[in-house]
Amino acid sequence: MTKRIIYLDNAATTPLDSEVLKTMMPFLTDLYGNPSAIYSCGRQSRLAVENARKSIADILGARPSEIFFTSGATESINTVLSGAVKDLGCEFIITSDIEHLSTLNTASYLASNRDVKVLKIPLLPSAVIDLIQFEDQLKKIPNNRKFIVVLSHANSEIGTINDITTIGNIIKKYNGYFCSDTVQTLGHRKFHLKETPVDFIIGSAHKFHGPKGIGLLYVNQDISISPNLLGGSQERNMRAGTENVPGIVGMAKALQIADCNIEKNQQYLQGLREFMIEKLLKETPATGINGATDKNKILENILSVNFPRTEKSEMLLYNLDIAGVCASAGSACSSGALNESHVITFLRKNQNDKELTIRFSFSRLNTKEEIEKTIEILKTILS
Ligand code: PLP
Repeated sequence: MTKRIIYLDNAATTPLDSEVLKTMMPFLTDLYGNPSAIYSCGRQSRLAVENARKSIADILGARPSEIFFTSGATESINTVLSGAVKDLGCEFIITSDIEHLSTLNTASYLASNRDVKVLKIPLLPSAVIDLIQFEDQLKKIPNNRKFIVVLSHANSEIGTINDITTIGNIIKKYNGYFCSDTVQTLGHRKFHLKETPVDFIIGSAHKFHGPKGIGLLYVNQDISISPNLLGGSQERNMRAGTENVPGIVGMAKALQIADCNIEKNQQYLQGLREFMIEKLLKETPATGINGATDKNKILENILSVNFPRTEKSEMLLYNLDIAGVCASAGSACSSGALNESHVITFLRKNQNDKELTIRFSFSRLNTKEEIEKTIEILKTILS
């Protein structure tokens, strides 16, 4: 029997919902036809893929033709950025220092291999974009030069939310393209893409209780980019390779479940987050919380906490693990690392470097009892 753990790393990945698994099962067993095949079991798979596309498009307020399936958000962002450079003629990629590495490393790669410059958006100390300086930055780009802005809707490490409508409207004033990294907000916030000034959004199903290895890319109908993976004509020539039918069906189901419960989950998770903050600050040596303080500007499932850097706290993640608590130092790609992430390093520029940061992230499956137990474990480890 596996040891019962307290899983507080839901921004890294979430457990698969049992209803989602049930929906996927036929496509992992009997309904194995290739969706490109013309015979009946192939057609059944094709129907499932197209129904999933329609369901996701409806939930996001988009058109089915604007939704493409990928292996995950990393592939989606690679497709967007290489397409922006190759097909849309973008000479500038504008992003921030606290983006996910899938954005930062893809942008750096393109800058080192093509005639592209990466510009960083000025951030306020709270890690929110300085909108005035941002607009000044865009004004300086010569009129005939194309650019794309890539920004997280919500930061995966500290949870701070960017207002994508305001940011998108500024970008449109200067004729730029806008990709919002919505990995942490899909399934947590409502989307109305037809009315939102974004050209691309990206997502990964495993962040909202769907399966791993499946993601999506929204491309506004007015834009056309070429595929990043070459081969067959799947996904209307936008993404070659046999479709991951169980994954696609699972992602659509997971998004549907999440979307029906957004308000309920938001309220519940806000309660858990506030409960943990209060206990952390009262009962443990925690010194503060990173990210926006206004609860409308921060994701309710992410809690980035600072602790004084001591001999005991240096080993905090290991000791939490030994006690059965899963948390992380940073985003998923560096969850296992004890080194500070690039996001926290950036935030610390003007802060106390004698602290270390742990990210706790929740899902609707977590309980108050688990939070209480985690606080007791933290007290024992740090006392
Ligand atoms: N963007 C953000 C904000 C993320 O949090 C992540 C994953 O942690 C990604 C992109 C990449 O997602 P994936 O690893 O599923 O491709």
